[in-house]
Formats: sequence, structure tokens, C-alpha cells
Amino acid sequence: ARLIGPEAASDDQAVDRAIRPRRLADYVGQPAVCEQMEIFIGAARGRGEALDHLLIFGPPGLGKTTLAHIVAHEMGVNLRQTSGPVLEKPGDLAALLTNLDPGDVLFVDEIHRLSPVVEEVLYPALEDFQLDIMIGEGPAARSIKLDLPPFTLVGATTRAGLLTSPLRDRFGIVQRLEYYAVEDLARIVARSAAILGIPTETEGAAEIARRSRGTPRIANRLLRRVRDYAQVKADGRISATVADRALRLLKVDGLGFDHMDRRLLQAVIEKFDGGPVGVESLAAAIGEERGTIEDVLEPYLIQQGFLMRTPRGRVATPAAYGHFGLVPPAGRVE
Ligand code: ADP
Repeated sequence: ARLIGPEAASDDQAVDRAIRPRRLADYVGQPAVCEQMEIFIGAARGRGEALDHLLIFGPPGLGKTTLAHIVAHEMGVNLRQTSGPVLEKPGDLAALLTNLDPGDVLFVDEIHRLSPVVEEVLYPALEDFQLDIMIGEGPAARSIKLDLPPFTLVGATTRAGLLTSPLRDRFGIVQRLEYYAVEDLARIVARSAAILGIPTETEGAAEIARRSRGTPRIANRLLRRVRDYAQVKADGRISATVADRALRLLKVDGLGFDHMDRRLLQAVIEKFDGGPVGVESLAAAIGEERGTIEDVLEPYLIQQGFLMRTPRGRVATPAAYGHFGLVPPAGRVE
């Protein structure tokens, strides 16, 4: 597995329970989201109602699941968790919905992967808290209507563009999570280090933060790997120097890029003359799937200004050339 991959790995889950913030006040960064959610949650609580359905989108590892849990905790209700691909049949969804207590949160991860038949059943459930399903087959088939308790659907997706518009329209609240600023990641690292009892200097936390691709999950993972290094190769304390040495050893460079990022940027620069190059050609050149490039590799490189997506394909920016000590070809207009 990729050390700086944003998807959850099994050893992430092991420590997750200890370090995942439970209250909105402990959710670091995302000021606009926090400010709004505090109001919406406070208002719904004040009225004694379920919170409006909430759609959270943003790249993996930025805190969608965490926010869903915080919503349930702050509302004082239970959270049931499932994901789009797991809900294969309308009956799977019906079983979950009919087991909810009033006000509960149903968290559906990867909601863009719901099957169309399940989505159909979800619409009236979201709108009127009604379940309308067919039971049986052939001449014996009949439709039954059930009243559901008011509940809150929290849907998470990495790509809002993949959601059907009728589904999207049924969310009263939509929040978009952004990559975290280095200062926020440093706070997350310091907080996790304190919980896990890892002696960490402010500058050590900052060094890890700078190389975490704006992603809390990666920051927490690098913290654990740097801790190992500090324990074996130093006195156990994470200083800036120890963090830097550990991350170099792990081949995570000063910008948080690893060999996959470097390979992608170098391919654009060396094999395609800086671009534009279509994503399919790029995928073939570096031997990666198109989806991996689009969902995992590219977003951070684009956000950091190393790669541009243009109608004619991907283009390496002067910053990308600079990162490899190269000078962009003359006459290129960015
Ligand atoms: P996602 O569901 O978007 O993939 P998660 O909610 O699972 O991401 O978050 C990944 C990890 O990052 C969690 O273990 C959590 O501890 C940490 N994390 C995410 N967002 C924050 C935040 N705002 N403040 C502190 N820690 C966070």
C-alpha cells in the first residue's frame, strides 16, 4: 500500500477510535463548514427535530466519516453506517431504515455508487419519511407503504459530479471539505501525538504536516511511521530533524510527493514535453489506471499548482519543472 495514499489502511483503523475527534469543537480546520454546522445542529436541536439531510463531499481522508459521527454525537442520536455498493437491493435499505430511532443518522459512504433501484426507494424516504417497496414476485407481488421515523441521511462522496441530480437535490445541507492548511494539519498531528503519548516538538509536527498532502489521514499515518523511526534511530522525540530524516527514508519528499507523484510529473515533462497530454496516454505511460490518476494522484498536484487540467489535457506548470531542478521550455504560456 502507498504510504501517502489517502484511503484508509487497516492499521489506520486500529488507532482511529482513539484519535478521531468526537465533537465539533475538536474538528480542526474547515472553518466555514464548522461555523455552518454549529448553527444547523444548534437550530435542529433547539426545535427538537432531526437535522436536514447532509451531503459531504471531498477527497478521501479529509474527514467526511468523522464529520458524520460528530453530527450524530452532537445531535445526541445513534449513527448507522453503510455504503453505496453494500446496499444492493431495496430490501437492504429498507432493513436499515426501519430500524432507525427518531432523529438517528444513517451514514452512507460512497453514496454515488448506490444502484438506481435503491436510489428510487430512497427518494420518498428522504422526502416524506415513507417507504414504498414491493414484496413478493409475479401475481402475488404487492406494494407496501411504511412510515419511517424522521431521520438524517448523511451521504459522503469523493466526487459530487457523479451524483444524480434528483438525489443531490434532496440534501438540505451540502458541505464541501477542502485540503487542510499546513497549520491545521500541524494541530491535528500535535493532538494525535498527545493522545497517543508521542513526545513531539512543534517543529516536528510542522514538518510532518508539510508533507501530508493536506490530508489528516496521511498526517496521522506519517506521525506513526516517524514515531517508529524516532524510537529506533533517535531518543524517541519527534523533532524537525528526526521527522525530516524519517520521511526522507520513507521517500516522501519535502512537498509530500512520493515516487508515484514524481513519476507522473516526470512523465508529463519528459515524455510529453510538458503537455498537454490526455489522461489515457498518461495512464499508459506510467502504467496506472485512469481512475487512480483522476481520483488519487491528480487532485493534490492540481491543487498545489504543479499540474493543470486543460481541455486538451494535462500540463506541467513551471513549479513542476522547478521541483525537479528543470527550467520550463521558453515560450510556454501558463
Ligand atoms: P474520509 O471519511 O473523508 O475518508 P475520515 O473521516 O475517515 O476521512 O478521516 C480520516 C482520519 O483523519 C480520521 O482518523 C480522523 O481522525 C482524522 N481527521 C479527519 N478530519 C479531521 C479534523 N478536521 N480534525 C482532526 N482529525 C481529523
